Amino acid sequence: MTTPPNWDLGLLYVPGSPELERDLAALRSKKEAFQAYRELLRERQPSLAEFGAMTRELEALRVLESNLEGWADLRFSQDTAHEEALAFLAQVREESAELEAAVLFYEIWWKELEPAAAERYLASLPEFDYYLRQARALLEHTLSEPEERIVALKNPNGREALVTLYSSYTNRYTFDSSFVPGGDGQPLNREELAVHFRSHLPEVRAKAYQELLRVYGQDGPFLAQIYQALVRDWRQENVRLRGYGSPALVRHKANDLPESVVASLLRVCQSRGPAVFGRYFQKKAQALGQARLRRYDLYAPLFEDKGRWEFGEAMDLVRDSFSSFAPQLAQLAGNVAESRHLDAALRPNKASGAFCASLAPGQIPWVLMSFKGRTQDLFTLAHELGHAAHSQLAREQNIFQFHASLPLAETASTFGEMLLAKRLLQDAGPQEKEALLFHLMDDAYATVGRQAFFALFETQAHELINQGAPARALAEAYLENLKTQFGQAVEVAPEFSWEWVAIPHFYFAPFYVYAYSFGQLLVYSLWRVYEKEGPDLAQRLMTLLARGGSGSPLDLVAEAGLGPLDDDFWAGGFEVIEGFLG
Ligand SMILES: [Zn+2]
Repeated sequence: MTTPPNWDLGLLYVPGSPELERDLAALRSKKEAFQAYRELLRERQPSLAEFGAMTRELEALRVLESNLEGWADLRFSQDTAHEEALAFLAQVREESAELEAAVLFYEIWWKELEPAAAERYLASLPEFDYYLRQARALLEHTLSEPEERIVALKNPNGREALVTLYSSYTNRYTFDSSFVPGGDGQPLNREELAVHFRSHLPEVRAKAYQELLRVYGQDGPFLAQIYQALVRDWRQENVRLRGYGSPALVRHKANDLPESVVASLLRVCQSRGPAVFGRYFQKKAQALGQARLRRYDLYAPLFEDKGRWEFGEAMDLVRDSFSSFAPQLAQLAGNVAESRHLDAALRPNKASGAFCASLAPGQIPWVLMSFKGRTQDLFTLAHELGHAAHSQLAREQNIFQFHASLPLAETASTFGEMLLAKRLLQDAGPQEKEALLFHLMDDAYATVGRQAFFALFETQAHELINQGAPARALAEAYLENLKTQFGQAVEVAPEFSWEWVAIPHFYFAPFYVYAYSFGQLLVYSLWRVYEKEGPDLAQRLMTLLARGGSGSPLDLVAEAGLGPLDDDFWAGGFEVIEGFLG
């Protein structure tokens, strides 16, 4: 297999087929049947057997929904210009929203049940334990029903409208392209502009960033006003009304991570990051023939990636590298291609980017990417097939506890990339080796270093805003954050003080970004264990992956005989990053 393959979505459903009609009908009829429990719960507490039946029926509904919506999504991503695929996707999404409303009564009843009764039900359904406990864990922050109704009614035109306003306003930005040599002078959108951050011409890189920050910067105070309103609303709702101890605790609870673990992660990133990445930036400046790196040069390319890999070769390398760690991992990755669930071909109108969609436990996941033969594509393949192996390992979990939670979701994918890097380094000549190590360092910085400092800024921004600080003070704090992060190693121009208003995560998902640092540094730390203890790690890692999302990240790591997630553990991850530097 040397040309990149197309997947065969017909293996799941064929448009207009009896199977598709049957499952759509089943989704509707099971949803109707489920309504009988609404009456029952209104009248009395269900028996243990009734509770079990009810939960399993909900599980079956979720599997149907996931297959139907998943297939509609996959079909659209395979050809985004396919109008009928888009119409079907909209139809299934509507069904899915209706299902949400139709099963809400079960979730509310479960959350509000008094503790002793809840424990009896929990004991009768151990396989759903984590899902059911997590649902109740958020109970203490639930408001009374009329209050929840007001929040639910006001939010779409409140904070959600502000987030939409931010997106639709900034999505309309266009950027001047007169700095692009040989360009046609047409204005660029953000994605087109970002391509030039990686230009091999220093002037072009600088101009591209200056243009980005000119456009965002001139609206800086306005975009900051949207952000300030979102931050104040977050605090009013979550801290004042719902009783969370701090704005960030909302996210920690959703991730089921103790605050102390996140604090430890960020502490180590803060103390180790600037020195390690500073050394890297000095090395990069040298390689570029500059006395000192400018912030504009962070992602400057050192080597041209000509795209020399055949697809078959890439597949063999990924399988080979997984196999050296655990043969089962290679076999699970291979399953995806062999069962025609892998779409790596280049086609017009195909969705950009890459993903692995795991629809339901026990099924082989679907992977989409566009393979152009570059080393970067090899890493994407290893990453997505790592995800695919993870969800196949977790096949014994039910659909509620199958997907790993955010902090652990990138474990197998990132570990897969490390295995591939190790394999590629074995045969690499001196220049290739250097290119690979620069690639690994770029990745480590972008995920561990940059995101951790984003998280530190975010906490500070929430504090400042709640003390009534003006937009200017936020911009100054951000520039300080960059200076601490880069020290003497990188020259930061003052226009970067407005970079934060161009980071959508701060707006639509407060305190989300540390999960990126967490996932990546976790894998480096596990890699450290692998380097020290060898193949013995394989069994423990597979145990962790097989648990999917069936426990808190901390418990799952501990049960697999890994961790504890303390300062020493995270510092181990930094030793691996230092190893890339040589
Ligand atoms: Zn991923």
